Amino acid sequence: MPDRIVGGRVIPDRRKAYRMEPIQAIAEPFLKELYPGIWKRSEADIDQLPRLMYDGVWRDHTDEITADIYAFADFHPVDEQRAEGAIKAWSQQSGNDLEGEYSQSYYRVAVHVGLLAYVRYMRELRTKMYCEPGWHRIVERFHDACSGQPGYGFISASEKWGGLSLVYRCNPAAQEHCREAERVAIERASHICEKCGLAGELRRSAWRKTLCDRHWLERSKEGSLPDEGV
Ligand SMILES: [Zn+2]
Repeated sequence: MPDRIVGGRVIPDRRKAYRMEPIQAIAEPFLKELYPGIWKRSEADIDQLPRLMYDGVWRDHTDEITADIYAFADFHPVDEQRAEGAIKAWSQQSGNDLEGEYSQSYYRVAVHVGLLAYVRYMRELRTKMYCEPGWHRIVERFHDACSGQPGYGFISASEKWGGLSLVYRCNPAAQEHCREAERVAIERASHICEKCGLAGELRRSAWRKTLCDRHWLERSKEGSLPDEGV
């Protein structure tokens, strides 16, 4: 089992690490549930056309489908924004550049089920994020950047001295790649409010926290108020 990396140091570790299968693979249960006519593979009939069209759209457009899914997540960084209606609407607007109505409709199915799978997966990953929601998308992007690297697995994310701290494991062959992604994530978090995801900076007083002006003021007021009962 690969070692865990904490703040650039390598530490042996036995904790459960989260790995992500390719999006098409984790989307299969959603395809089965929502589009059973496309999902089913007929053993007797090799010309199961809907299935072939669906697989074909993934084969030819994985990068574009993935980019559409990431764009949705960027526009909806907070989990409550990722409702099924918003996902459906997003998928229906995708694929406009494709030629042919058939390709477009299969593309939209792929984005739809891919997004449902991605959002559910990330909801689970967020249970391992102990920082506040403003940084969650940053951590997701780190995870996306490292998924598929040899031995990579996510363990946790948290706030430490006002900055983002990531714990994960990977094989030596993937260390350079993962550390670079970690560096990018920490840099990004250093000017994003940990509470809300808007522009922020590191505030230092009795505590250290990266916050926007609004949340800094709120927090400062909280800090200066006497305890409850006044
Ligand atoms: Zn804020």
